[in-house]
Amino acid sequence: MSDTQPGFSTLAVHAGSAPDAATGARATPIYQTTSFVFDDVDQAAALFGLQAFGNIYTRITNPTTAVLEERVAALEGGTAALAVASGHAAQLGVFHTLLRPGDEFIASDKLYGGSINQFNHSFQNFGWKVVWVNMEDEEALKKAVSDKTKAIFIESLANPGGVVIDIERVSKVAKAAGVPLIVDNTLATPYLCRPIEHGADIVVHSLTKFMGGHGNSMGGIIIDGGTFDWLASGRYPMLSEPRPEYQGMVLAETFGNFAFAIACRVLGLRDLGGAISPFNAFLIATGIETLPLRMQRHCDNAQVVAEWLEAHDKVDWVRYAGLKSDPCHELAGKYLPKGAGSVFTFGVKGGYEAGVKLVSSTGLLSHVANIGDSKSLIIHPASTTHRQLTDEQKAAAGAGPEVVRLSIGVEDVADIIADLEQALAEV
Ligand SMILES: *Cc1c(COP(=O)(O)O)cnc(C)c1O
Repeated sequence: MSDTQPGFSTLAVHAGSAPDAATGARATPIYQTTSFVFDDVDQAAALFGLQAFGNIYTRITNPTTAVLEERVAALEGGTAALAVASGHAAQLGVFHTLLRPGDEFIASDKLYGGSINQFNHSFQNFGWKVVWVNMEDEEALKKAVSDKTKAIFIESLANPGGVVIDIERVSKVAKAAGVPLIVDNTLATPYLCRPIEHGADIVVHSLTKFMGGHGNSMGGIIIDGGTFDWLASGRYPMLSEPRPEYQGMVLAETFGNFAFAIACRVLGLRDLGGAISPFNAFLIATGIETLPLRMQRHCDNAQVVAEWLEAHDKVDWVRYAGLKSDPCHELAGKYLPKGAGSVFTFGVKGGYEAGVKLVSSTGLLSHVANIGDSKSLIIHPASTTHRQLTDEQKAAAGAGPEVVRLSIGVEDVADIIADLEQALAEV
């Protein structure tokens, strides 16, 4: 082996995995077990006391899931990662570790509709207050910071509008406020953008989307950037104060630059319980082996479809950062140089009715509430994913009545266009 750092595609295939020591199996075995036999009572005591690393129970660690965690940590350039049951479980885990009742966090108003709901409703029951900000307005962002602010949350490439957020600019505000920047990197994936290199402290994903890539398993992950000094800050008691259940251990002291991932695991996952199934971890880790190939094809296809739609007479507008006409084109050149992803929106002439008719008329493109599948997908957010939001929230999130969202798959692009052509003819 050479001592140069492996490239991204090599890490996607190999990071975290090795031939199975017990059997020689080349693929990662699915350790479909709830529990692991202790060597002896002393080892069990060390594991429970966090004095040794090892497996106790699959709610907290599992060897198949560990492969997925190491792989994604390597691809994002983080120090450690924690895989969980879904993207939403990842977000819950992050905020549970950072916030106490009465605390606030700032979130971009351009987010996945499910995240807007989670922050507005369930998080409020925990006493965590979300403050929404248009991240393009730097003054508004600075003004939103208060002494109760504990974190800033953005998506690198926002769903559903395909909006690129200036991560470095937001990161400067987070640093000045002394709070971590959390970036949801679901739509970009680390193949297109690595937020930690731009100042993110924590990255989260819905692995359900492009990472798994085949629309067959739910999963989420938290990546610790290892960049935030929890001890110096002292504002995050879960990390910087002694834990009574672990003999007074201070997690930030014992685990240093991967303490956040440990805290999310041994406090968050232990108590909240949103563990991923080892079978899903296996499917997602397998999907990641082809992430670079798939993402490039997704982007190349999306670029062709976006250009074709822009020239179509039944289309009012297209928002895809890969288009020269797009307001985010310049930011995309900086943050997403290999392509602007595969999820974007366009406005169909005729508003709500036309949008409903269009999604009812496609064949190859499936009408589903998902993105990031190898199959091409279509949805009309105003009547589905963003239905629960107010009209103002819909507009702010880029989900107005005429908006149609596409997630372009890896099929032959001529077939995708042919299907959209016949469906637009029905409108
Ligand atoms: C889907 C999605 C989520 C939520 O993930 P689940 O796996 O569905 O819980 C969060 N953020 C973004 C950007 C998403 O697309």
